[in-house]
Amino acid sequence: MLIILKPDAAAEDIAYMYDFLKGMDNIIVQHIQFESAKIIGLAGDTEKLSANSLLSFNCVERVTRIQEPYKLASRKFHPEDSVINVAGQKIGGGHFAVIAGPCSVESEEQILSIAREVKVSGANFLRGGAFKPRTSPYSFMGLGLDGLELLKMARQKTDLPIVTELMSEEYLDNFAEDVDVIQIGARNMQNFPLLKQVGKLNKPVLLKRGPSSTIDELLMAAEYIMAGGSAKVILCERGIRTFETATRNTLDLSAVPVIKSKSHLPVVVDPSHATGYWHLVESMTLAAVASGADGLIIEVHNRPEAALCDGAQSITPMIFRRLMQKVRRIREVLSE
Ligand code: PEP
Ligand code: MN
Repeated sequence: MLIILKPDAAAEDIAYMYDFLKGMDNIIVQHIQFESAKIIGLAGDTEKLSANSLLSFNCVERVTRIQEPYKLASRKFHPEDSVINVAGQKIGGGHFAVIAGPCSVESEEQILSIAREVKVSGANFLRGGAFKPRTSPYSFMGLGLDGLELLKMARQKTDLPIVTELMSEEYLDNFAEDVDVIQIGARNMQNFPLLKQVGKLNKPVLLKRGPSSTIDELLMAAEYIMAGGSAKVILCERGIRTFETATRNTLDLSAVPVIKSKSHLPVVVDPSHATGYWHLVESMTLAAVASGADGLIIEVHNRPEAALCDGAQSITPMIFRRLMQKVRRIREVLSE
């Protein structure tokens, strides 16, 4: 961390801050004189120092971090790709995984039929919301714990591990017991109390990028989960909010190589929420594979026109089957 001092900083103000910094445990303080600039370099446990609080000293002009504030999620401290193993299904480090299923679990018939069809086409995980974050309080909110029971039934019949969203700490125990991968939705990416609790469970977590979050904020959210003790975090790019209105969100595919350069955690792409339209899902899926993603999460519905949530962006099992064939071909080209 570098503290750039004001050119006219008073000696007593500098001495006051210097004493404050010297009094901190595990912080190494060093004066640097670079041409006419006066700089103080800090090393050690600098995460506990906030740039904002340092700006409150009279003598400080600017504060710059040299290292990212995340450590556990950083590739610098863990150079190899993390491989996350969920009931034998691996993701990361060259293992590609496809998570597919409806936006929300609606009935036994619906979830079982979709689960069977996506499995046959090559999906490795079943997705389906039991608790849904809806923009309108009048929309379908999911079947709740009954939906979780239906997902368990689908897992038992297909052997697909289940991925489903946890929205509140209230159901932490149910999810700890029954869910294979706990999804933290985009809207809850910075729900820090929830992240802390989920981190303590030491279960795989699918962490979706917040609609208005930077990549570093996503990595800091992962750090919260990892600081709790869980190393099994899968990151998800699901589109961000921009000025563009042609699509539901704007898929930030460059996030994939950027995240992979900064972090060892696997990254999956959600072309369904990123675009909002089923006819855009195929092209963005193939582009996501080509971008180096470790996997995909795709909404599939047997009757999109009757879906209780996100029908417009859901593809049918038949389209999913053809798409998976193309995904395999792109992956073959990438491995040549
Ligand atoms: C979902 O996966 O169904 C969902 C609500 O996604 P997001 O949190 O990315 O909006
Ligand atoms: Mn959805």
